[in-house]
Amino acid sequence: MAVTEPVPEETPSGCATATSPVGASAAGRQTGARSAHEGILRRQSARESAARTYARALPIVPVRARGLTIEGADGRRYLDCLSGAGTLALGHNHPVVLEAIRKVLDSGAPLHVLDLATPVKDAFITELFRTLPPGLAEHARVQFCGPAGTDAVEAALKLVRAATGRPGVLAFTGAYHGMTSGSLEASGGAPDVRVARLPYPQDYRCPFGVGGERGAELAARWTESVLDDPKSGVRRPAGMILEPVQGEGGVIPAPDAWMRRMRQITADRSIPLIADEVQTGVGRTGAFWAVEHSGVIPDVMVLSKAIGGSLTLAVVVYRDDLDVWEPGAHAGTFRGNQLAMAAGAATLAHVRENRLAERAAALGAHLLERLRRLAEDFPCMGDVRGRGLMIGIEMVDPEGEPATETCFPARAAHPAAPELAAAVRRECLRRGLIVELGGRHAGVVRLLPPLTITDEQAAAVLDRLADAIESAARGHENRPRDGEDKWRKPPPGRNRHRRGRAEQAG
Ligand code: PMP
Repeated sequence: MAVTEPVPEETPSGCATATSPVGASAAGRQTGARSAHEGILRRQSARESAARTYARALPIVPVRARGLTIEGADGRRYLDCLSGAGTLALGHNHPVVLEAIRKVLDSGAPLHVLDLATPVKDAFITELFRTLPPGLAEHARVQFCGPAGTDAVEAALKLVRAATGRPGVLAFTGAYHGMTSGSLEASGGAPDVRVARLPYPQDYRCPFGVGGERGAELAARWTESVLDDPKSGVRRPAGMILEPVQGEGGVIPAPDAWMRRMRQITADRSIPLIADEVQTGVGRTGAFWAVEHSGVIPDVMVLSKAIGGSLTLAVVVYRDDLDVWEPGAHAGTFRGNQLAMAAGAATLAHVRENRLAERAAALGAHLLERLRRLAEDFPCMGDVRGRGLMIGIEMVDPEGEPATETCFPARAAHPAAPELAAAVRRECLRRGLIVELGGRHAGVVRLLPPLTITDEQAAAVLDRLADAIESAARGHENRPRDGEDKWRKPPPGRNRHRRGRAEQAG
């Protein structure tokens, strides 16, 4: 639906409320809006695929949006910390994005041009190359792909296979690269034919039980040994693909030193390194591209989501000596989305000129600190982690047996609590806050707010989230357990979700 008028930004203290004024006709309008909203949702569940995802957990019918705020057809407003799964670096309908789109529309430029050159595309490439890590920018080629992130991943895998003449790929546990078959093969959950899976380092659920630098070192050694052991069962691959911060995998930032080790290991063995920056790019993690934290220059970068300024756009950027493709080796009808290129160029420039990556770093650090303090009161917040404005809270069952005793840093990794995470998401929604879930067990509550979020809005997000966690934790602890009379009061000690300061002191 067209956005006919701007939605005023949500006031930080405002809740998700109907916006119409009180009165008989206003009440009538409200009832009408609610039934239109319910009708649309009913028809959606009757007509759309069972593979629907976000729509199942978020029964919202967005009709207007601006910045952090979405307004539903029923008049309710929400603070959107999902941001189109991390796509909206500038939030919804940012003025610079709208202006860039209008300019193209008003100019009479063609909207569909296959892969022909246009002034709009030329400007997009210039702005994109301006932001690339030095070292790649000087020798870069760009391939416009089909419109989604997964298309760019496919293109990247195909490119390194063509360039090396080798079929295999190295990928990591917990990875997510998309839903088409090659991308899916490289993602952590899928059984694979041509992909060898290596351990991605993580502190909270370290596969080696140690976490920290030691855990990352062991993960790197395993990678080396798989590549160098002639009997490892893994042949020299065409490339290694990694996310500098795993997003869908549960918001797990790779340590910078480990990233440098992966660069060294792949460079020493002439294996192209592919950085999947579909979710981490354009300032999200506190650097323009997340590889910049470690100083690693990948051979190939896969970019999508924010580079289209909220419209569909995906590219692979790679070192020119990998450009071995025959003409037409990777084609597709929809590679020339002029509106997306204009919106994307405006977004990239705005993030660069306004140093929004630095802003994401500072605000993200503040949010992490506040959430970690909150976790002291809620043992069900097992781990709080992230980088920049890519933040995750792993919800756990604190009464469950920890997976390992030697976790880093001395934090027991209790079993994941996906039901609790889902309850937190529901309680957030009731309070007018949209959050995402992720992680191996769907037990991680994720925040991906726009980089333009103000301090006041961030405080409002934290308030609603804290309230939602408290409410969900209370409900979770009072839930009936297997073999337990569901009407019985919980035994003493079962309501310790909130370790009050007085109780701690006592
Ligand atoms: N790579 C990463 C790191 C992603 O997070 C995603 C999407 N969440 C993809 C690839 C796939 O992108 P798309 O959904 O646009 O195909």
